[in-house]
Amino acid sequence: MTLDSVPQPNSPEARDIAYQMHPMVDQRRYEKTGGLVIERGEGVYVFDSSGKRYIEGLAGLWSVALGFGEKRLADVAYEQMQKLPYYHTFAYRTHGPAIDLAEKLVQISPEHLTRAHFTSSGSEANDLVVKMIWYRSNALGKPEKKKIIGRIKGYHGVTIAAGSVTGLPNNHRSFDLPLDRMIHTLTPDYWREAQEGESELDFSKRMAAALEEMILAEGPDTIAAMFGEPVMGAGGVIVPPEGYWAEIQAVLKKYDILLVADEVICGFGRTGKMFACETYDIRPDVMVLSKQISSSYMPLSAILISDDFYEPIADESHKIGVFGHGYTASGHPVATAVGLENVKIIEEKDLVGNAARLAPLFLSRLADLAKHPLAAASRGVGLLGALEIKPWETPNAAAAAVAEAMMEEGVICRNIGEALCFCPPLIITEEQVNAMFDGVATALDKVA
Ligand code: PLP
Repeated sequence: MTLDSVPQPNSPEARDIAYQMHPMVDQRRYEKTGGLVIERGEGVYVFDSSGKRYIEGLAGLWSVALGFGEKRLADVAYEQMQKLPYYHTFAYRTHGPAIDLAEKLVQISPEHLTRAHFTSSGSEANDLVVKMIWYRSNALGKPEKKKIIGRIKGYHGVTIAAGSVTGLPNNHRSFDLPLDRMIHTLTPDYWREAQEGESELDFSKRMAAALEEMILAEGPDTIAAMFGEPVMGAGGVIVPPEGYWAEIQAVLKKYDILLVADEVICGFGRTGKMFACETYDIRPDVMVLSKQISSSYMPLSAILISDDFYEPIADESHKIGVFGHGYTASGHPVATAVGLENVKIIEEKDLVGNAARLAPLFLSRLADLAKHPLAAASRGVGLLGALEIKPWETPNAAAAAVAEAMMEEGVICRNIGEALCFCPPLIITEEQVNAMFDGVATALDKVA
């Protein structure tokens, strides 16, 4: 089925329209077109209900590091379901899988991050971080230090606090977001926003100066933290220009403002290092992880925190008698068991190394495609990249047309604005990278 054909009565497509309300769609359009039913997956491929095969160039939602059908994850889930399918981590109870994964994450992450806390989605994790930051400011006797800085085009999820830190209008409009305490600074989109003749470093300095100006205007004592994706994902794969994170961190340090690195997309090898904080020399107070933590086979997210972040929160919980936050599924044993096995496989198969080894090919194929008459530019790092399509009169129509032609060629990507975004499973091979971009090249020729 294509997105514009009419579903047959009683088909899965028609029942989907009748019974399901979907996230992130125009509901009225969906009622007419329905969606593509994906039936199964294997390696880097997924297959639709007609049996057509696609390379999943976005790893689902930037998440399936191990590809589709890693049997070891299924086996671990089955074993854990039989041994202890559920237990919680509330009220002085705990269990092995959550302990094991917490230890593993602390071992592989930057040394100053010493504790893990589990949630089930990126949004939940970021929402919790906001709450912890507010709790911590109260604990420190600084109740006025509560504002959170996000970035225009930043994405941190859709719950009320995380959705407010997100800087994308479609996630705010008609939802009465953002909350007042959330403010947004500039996007480090050098390609689009640089001034004539401005070097990357000068651009980064300008971004940092704008941040400082905002902090001074708001009052440094009112600002608690800044959230940032090391590489912006859902904003259209915006790679930080030279010097950006060093300049930003210097400003935050000057005004005693915490840094939260949202590694929900970047973590676990995507940029060619285990964490993008290593790639960009970022020293966050909190690191947020999800998606590739379990290859999204189970819903799972984690926050990693420093001692300095933890201590006032621990003191406050002692004063009150409880840290009054948690979910039924916090540290779910099946999810954390799958997460641990997933991280072990990433290590055993050296998928971080695979991303680093294939990055030059991946980025050079993107750069070649950028020479196509329909294309404007490319960018990326590791196995995360974007091809910018020249706009047509109707905004976003050009990239949408190419993305649709790519589907015919058996390649799935995500078109965000005018950018075609690529983030394939980390198990991808050289041959499959080439096949994916050959499909993109054919699609571009067809649309041209
Ligand atoms: N943070 C980042 C950087 C993301 O890309 C996403 C999702 O795409 C989220 C947070 C939200 O995660 P979830 O969809 O699991 O709530």
